[in-house]
Amino acid sequence: MSKEEKMSRWGSEVLQAPVVADCWNRNVSAQSIVIVAHRSPDGDAVGSSLALHHHLRAMGLNSSVVLPDGFPAFFNWLPNADDIVLQDVEMERANALIAHAEVLWCLDFNGPKRAGQMEEVIRSSRAFKIVVDHHMEPELFADVLLSDPTCGSTCELIYGLIEAWYQQDSLSLETAQCLYTGMMTDTGSFRFSSVTGNTHRILGHLLDSGVNQAWIHEQVFGSNRIAKIQMQGFAMSEKLLVWPEHRTALISLTQAEMKRFDCQSGDTEGLVNQALALEGVEVAVFMKESEDGHVKMSFRSKGEYSVRDLVAEHFNGGGHRNAAGGILENTPMPVAIEFFQSLLKKWMPV
Ligand code: 5GP
Ligand code: MN
Repeated sequence: MSKEEKMSRWGSEVLQAPVVADCWNRNVSAQSIVIVAHRSPDGDAVGSSLALHHHLRAMGLNSSVVLPDGFPAFFNWLPNADDIVLQDVEMERANALIAHAEVLWCLDFNGPKRAGQMEEVIRSSRAFKIVVDHHMEPELFADVLLSDPTCGSTCELIYGLIEAWYQQDSLSLETAQCLYTGMMTDTGSFRFSSVTGNTHRILGHLLDSGVNQAWIHEQVFGSNRIAKIQMQGFAMSEKLLVWPEHRTALISLTQAEMKRFDCQSGDTEGLVNQALALEGVEVAVFMKESEDGHVKMSFRSKGEYSVRDLVAEHFNGGGHRNAAGGILENTPMPVAIEFFQSLLKKWMPV
């Protein structure tokens, strides 16, 4: 088996293989363990990081969680979310933790570029690096790569790791809550095609461990500010474009529009899925102007259509077949929309 194959296979063989035992016996027991995830952290990034943090603690090991920037307030309740070091707030402390780590866990991203401003310090850190991730085409920058792009969430992979360590019976409630949250948010509340019988088997164990799933759903989806709901209403009624002949819908928001509704981190989440839920729509895009004049894009598709290919070719990004993201730098919103529209003939033929 080539190095590449060995590093990128998950499966039961790899879970039983020395590489996983190594994580625990030789490397995981290091004194300075740091866990990092991607920028604009979502439920899976925050959930998997805190889940591993709690599990290591239950096993008697201390670790630090360092994220590139803040996450939506509806994840603040996650156990020990307060302990997370945000690199954009505490740059020196965050960089020192990563630079001096003995073991660096890189969760929910397929290459250091996805960690934004932390890219360089992750690359140059001499830590033993372990990636656990479910994005396609992982970059081979780490010592151990546990990658399964068919898996619905990194949290599900972390559970697999805990099982491979035969520690699933020692799952703490905190670990279980964090895992449940990431699995829930990355699978659209368990409805995407990535959800398997194994996903539900794991969920069963998490509930048996004491997770209150109704309460978690309420924290994440049922505690919206009025301004957020009004902004979503505005986006749907004023900012939705549909090209029925191309089975495509687009929603865009500028900085001015978001400011008008006091937009906060996470407030625009879900908009792209609402566009995708329209009758006859197979591809949906959400375009958001950033403070520095770029247009950031979230793509979603149904079925076989790969938005990842579209994004990789035209929008300097990547992701999965049905969920991808990209960016057009220094581009005014109307130009970005026009450019996107010009691609529809080729990418979504009538
Ligand atoms: P979202 O639309 O939720 O921000 O991102 C959906 C998926 O697209 C993410 O899980 C991630 O895999 C991918 N993605 C988002 N932004 C980028 C990007 O700038 N570069 C790459 N390579 N992937 C991205
Ligand atoms: Mn994920």
